[in-house]
Amino acid sequence: MNLTGEMLIGQTAVKGSRDPIQAINPATNERLEPGYPGGTQAEVERACQLAWDAFDAYRETSLEARAKFLETVADEIEALGDALVERAVAESGLPQARIQGERGRTCGQLRLFARVVRDGEWLDVRIDPALPDRQPMPRVDLRQRHVALGPVVVFGASNFPLAFSVAGGDTASALAAGCPVIVKAHAAHPGTSELVGRAIQAAVKKSGLPEGVFSLLFGSGREVGTALVSDPRIKAAGFTGSRSGGLALWKAAQSRPEPIPFYAEMSSINPVYPLPAALKARGEAMGKAFVGSLNMGAGQFCTNPGLVIARKGPELDAFVAAAGEAVKESGAQTMLTPGIFEAYESGVAGLAGSGKAREIARGAKGEGPNQCQTGLFVTSAADFLGDEALQAEVFGSTSLVVECADDDELKQVTEHLEGQLTVTLQMDDADTETARALLPALERKAGRILVNGWPTGVEVCDAMVHGGPFPATSDSRTTSVGTAAIFRFLRPVCYQDLPEALLPEALKQDNPLKLKRLVDGKREG
Ligand code: NAP
Repeated sequence: MNLTGEMLIGQTAVKGSRDPIQAINPATNERLEPGYPGGTQAEVERACQLAWDAFDAYRETSLEARAKFLETVADEIEALGDALVERAVAESGLPQARIQGERGRTCGQLRLFARVVRDGEWLDVRIDPALPDRQPMPRVDLRQRHVALGPVVVFGASNFPLAFSVAGGDTASALAAGCPVIVKAHAAHPGTSELVGRAIQAAVKKSGLPEGVFSLLFGSGREVGTALVSDPRIKAAGFTGSRSGGLALWKAAQSRPEPIPFYAEMSSINPVYPLPAALKARGEAMGKAFVGSLNMGAGQFCTNPGLVIARKGPELDAFVAAAGEAVKESGAQTMLTPGIFEAYESGVAGLAGSGKAREIARGAKGEGPNQCQTGLFVTSAADFLGDEALQAEVFGSTSLVVECADDDELKQVTEHLEGQLTVTLQMDDADTETARALLPALERKAGRILVNGWPTGVEVCDAMVHGGPFPATSDSRTTSVGTAAIFRFLRPVCYQDLPEALLPEALKQDNPLKLKRLVDGKREG
């Protein structure tokens, strides 16, 4: 497929009029053709109107039709073949195997949401039939189901050009819920975005759906992104990126006459706690494995382990020494964009120049452009508690070890943490009581608690929570990965005393959709 540099508004390809965005191959700093001129208010207006026009029809598509549509999107993405992989590698600097894996995850999560749509549990049907003879008051007939919120804006993430971008988790869960989607493409991978956008566009057509079910816009976040979240026809948004970008858009979403849910995933440093018995038994091996996780994807994972918190002592010293050796052996890796590389360099320089973090080791220096050097630093609990800057996310493969004098200090450091996507305990049986004492604080701080694993690598499944208190996300009640992500884009509606002829299929008396429903307090089906 030839790239045209056009936006996709429904079934129409439209050339923007703002200065073109051009992807840069971060491995070479070469500019990639074509340019992608950005959109303006006019394209925002058109995409929002089409999405609004499509909404009522799309949200009431049959479960089978919507599931088949999601599967068709996955099929169309796979049909793009090597061209998609080649373009995504060129635009992101990520290795081919990683991009192939990400394509698998993208199509896998679309098919997973197709399964979710088909089994219909997300409708969460509850029926409390009328009790006309109840004393002292009769009960009316009450039936509840979930309905889609409305058109959703998705901001593609830079660090997952496939799995969290145009057809990624936010898009898949919003489409599954019955919401039309408008994607604001990330400027780092416009060609990948166009390819995937065209695949979704083709799936919309093949599935006979209204064209406004999907649009893809290019352009600046400040102009196009803000206009999208401010448009009254948009009813929710999903975002992955920086804290400053997330907060700016969140503010726009909250300052509308009708504020809307804005699900931003922003900043997390994912603390790891090597507990004393585990440190003693396998500190060295743990140190090496930790650096393996730190280096994954050049550290550009939202679940990258940017912080280690542990009791000071010879066992921690052995962990740090082994991790330091592994850091020294770490090769330089190309980062996603020149901007992200510069932000990484300045974050590491800030840490090194803080006067409060001791450098333990640095990895190999890059020979090519935009290559990050892995880093490991150590600080004391007192310095960590006294300097907010030491908690800032350094997006990339650098981590900070916080040495605590005793369990009290470890608890203080934990209580001082901002909200996180994950926390990880490295523990042996003898650490059980220490872990038990930490758990209540960890539950307050994070969306996922791991034992003896590493936070990088997020399974897309029913039980996953990829979320957490601010600033990990803007709304800790939800997840952006896994099937529960669908609930971000739904709301309950209760129907009181509607005649059978007016009831939606899901709520009809004889359960034509064969759903598992809660009827008069008992589970049906
Ligand atoms: P970003 O700068 O936040 O950009 C993400 C999206 O938000 C882009 O579409 C951008 O539009 C838009 N945007 C940014 N600032 C905005 C503003 N003030 N108003 C309206 N829209 C705005 O994120 P990024 O480019 O992916 O990476 C930059 C940094 O974000 C990284 O260095 C890292 O610190 C952090 N990051 C964190 C995670 C995580 O999972 N924790 C993931 C990725 C990135 P434009 O097209 O105009 O830029």
